[in-house]
Amino acid sequence: MRLRRATTLSLKFSISGKDGGALLAWYDQNRRELPWRKTQDPYAVWVSEIMLQQTQVSTVVPYWERWMQTFPTVESLASADEQDVLSIWQGLGYYRRCRMLLAGSRWVLDHGMPIDVEGWLCVPGVGQYTARAIASIAQGVAAPVVDGNVERVYARLAGDDRLGKELHAAAWDWAHQNLFASRPGDWNQALMELGATVCTPNRPACGSCPLEDRCVARQSWRVDDLPTKPPKMRVVKLRQSVWVPIHQGQFGLRQIPAGQWWEGMWEFPRIDWVAETEPSELRELCGGGWLEYSGTVRHSVTCHRIAIDVSFLRCDDRSDRLHWYDTASLAKLPMPSPQRRILKLILNQLGLPTTDPS
Ligand code: SF4
Repeated sequence: MRLRRATTLSLKFSISGKDGGALLAWYDQNRRELPWRKTQDPYAVWVSEIMLQQTQVSTVVPYWERWMQTFPTVESLASADEQDVLSIWQGLGYYRRCRMLLAGSRWVLDHGMPIDVEGWLCVPGVGQYTARAIASIAQGVAAPVVDGNVERVYARLAGDDRLGKELHAAAWDWAHQNLFASRPGDWNQALMELGATVCTPNRPACGSCPLEDRCVARQSWRVDDLPTKPPKMRVVKLRQSVWVPIHQGQFGLRQIPAGQWWEGMWEFPRIDWVAETEPSELRELCGGGWLEYSGTVRHSVTCHRIAIDVSFLRCDDRSDRLHWYDTASLAKLPMPSPQRRILKLILNQLGLPTTDPS
């Protein structure tokens, strides 16, 4: 029987102690074995939480393992060179996270490792969610968290059809009221795990959910309607031109200036597309030589869809406005992922082996 739609705002939804116990028991039996769950080291948990922002768990695992091998302690990270740190991070995207992690490690070296939420909030790059996640998971502090998974679980459990900031605030209130204070880290992870593996955005596995009997969306046949979908984001299409200069087996690159996407990393000369066959800005930067179109690389970041026209320039001489590297050195250089794909395209066309970042 189809039930009448619940009146959302009148609902006072909470998980009782018994239901909370059921969720924790489910988590104890079903949680994924992730490497950062085998440690209580706040630094290791901190690294995992920063990497997991906007990035899938399966992508993060090898990066986290490589990072912890290279920088096993906060001291080793704090004393590292930024280029080496970016090099380990490259491919994960959103490079500001990496820089802030490095800045945060230096802050911790000066001020000591925080022991509570307020302390973590003083660390560069650590916001409300991350501070609470680290403090609860690694240090047992009774602090709730709300990420996208928890927000979705809350919206369905409570049948809350609000959007955006209103839903987010309601989810935080609910998380505060329902925190299982004797196991805060496990409780937070259980809710996030439920959202990631059972209460998924599409086709949630309600039959396997420990909270099925308490879920308003399930009881009112509104699982597919919650959370309410926001209006679609407008897609912004961009087009850019990249030249790949090569001279006697070496490639010409420049360091991306401060204030631009991927600042501090290295790229082949790139400009926003202009209606010139040989844009004067690129010609002045790269110097004379024979130019050949190589292909188009497509890249998406947030709402931007970027088409990058790639041309290959056999240079007459080395431009002194660029830095020159052979392919072995390029493998160690921090480069944004679209630039890595451009390099791969060119190496394939030249019949040279592609080199993975070291
Ligand atoms: S019953 Fe279904 S919709 Fe409700 S919390 Fe569980 S998985 Fe999510």
